Amino acid sequence: MALKRPKGTFDLLPPGSPGLEKHNAMNRHQLVLEQVRETLERAGAKFIQTPLFEALELVKRGVGETTDVVQKEMYSVSHRGSDEGFVLRPEGTAPIVRAYLENGLKQFPAPLKLWTYGPMFRAERQQEGRYRQFHQVDYEVLGSDDPLTDAEAIVLMWQVLERVGLKNLEMKVSSLGDPPDREAYSTYLREVFAPHLERLSPLSLSRLERNPLRILDSKEAQDIALIAQLSPKSLLESLGESAKVHLDRVCAYLTAWGVTYALDPGIVRGLDYYRRTAWEVHHTGVGAKAALGGGGRYDGLAELLGGPPTPGVGWALGVERILIALEAEAVPAPALVGPLLYLGALEEGLLENVTGLALELRRSASCEFGYRAKKPGKHLEDAVKKGAVFLGLIGPDEADTGTLSLKNLERGEGWVLPRAELPEYLRNYLSSH
Ligand code: AMP
Repeated sequence: MALKRPKGTFDLLPPGSPGLEKHNAMNRHQLVLEQVRETLERAGAKFIQTPLFEALELVKRGVGETTDVVQKEMYSVSHRGSDEGFVLRPEGTAPIVRAYLENGLKQFPAPLKLWTYGPMFRAERQQEGRYRQFHQVDYEVLGSDDPLTDAEAIVLMWQVLERVGLKNLEMKVSSLGDPPDREAYSTYLREVFAPHLERLSPLSLSRLERNPLRILDSKEAQDIALIAQLSPKSLLESLGESAKVHLDRVCAYLTAWGVTYALDPGIVRGLDYYRRTAWEVHHTGVGAKAALGGGGRYDGLAELLGGPPTPGVGWALGVERILIALEAEAVPAPALVGPLLYLGALEEGLLENVTGLALELRRSASCEFGYRAKKPGKHLEDAVKKGAVFLGLIGPDEADTGTLSLKNLERGEGWVLPRAELPEYLRNYLSSH
């Protein structure tokens, strides 16, 4: 049997491929990326790229030992003779903070805005919108705890999603408080659940000591029922004064800029390092519980990685989830772009002539050629299939006179042009279209 790709992965395919699904069209993927790049770089974000694999220790400390990602979803990377532990990166924040600390990026004026894009790896059960290799866009701002950096991060995420063409978006904002607020709230939760331990799922029971907040995020029916019955007060209602003032400032900016958002105490984002602002963007087309992306403030992360205190805030968006949402809203895919010119030889002996011209023209325009000599009508069919704007034919007459028969396939007009004039003709066409 022919070999297959690993479960939970997919091939990004050119438009028109038979294997296309909602999330793997290369033209849509590239367009989204281009729109993201423009939106983020106009705001001053600099592109950064970190390795696809990192030390296990970085991911354990950076993502948190009690998270599903670390406990169940990691891909380890081994290489012969080494007992160092590496993993394929499951997310972008910890690697970027590591790179910031390791490469002295602190010397840039703060805050420093960075963004990255690339594949992430998590051994999750495959379903629509959930893959083992997927792509994220990450935006991170380091070196400031100013609520304006949180608000700007949120509005940039919103603008990215608007720019790609999405409308049915919901922005949910919350605060996870400062560490003492979280500690007090964790104690409160332990007290709330203490009389009902036998009703908690085994997973939630194991989280009660280390990270009881994550119980609120449980997908287990028995936990959901117990939480509904006990209805504990939210962390959002239990914020200390400084976290509350910070959140109020973030919200004031969002309101001033006309961003529609809802305060939602259900945003848990149970990673150890998150504090203060946390948010998620949901889309009706991607299904309940599946966010397009999320973000938060992580002022404690740099210290967990062994660096000096470095406040930061950032977000990640899933490219495949964006593509699924675009399908759900029936946003048109970018048109297939054909070559500007398709060249054909009318006799085999003229192929060198045609191909030599094509190679020269490719310095300034897209140009394809037919691999065999054919009759004009057959070249025309091929050029139309390729989506070319012009068809250029070279037969014995054109070869003798140094010309080519050019046809504008959009208008149906044809004429003979000296070959020396062709580059300028195409340049003029490109600059006026
Ligand atoms: P997270 O890093 O878990 O906060 O995820 C941020 C975003 O990445 C999510 O909202 C998704 O859009 C995307 N994402 C996370 N995990 C997956 C996955 N297994 N497959 C596809 N997209 C994912």
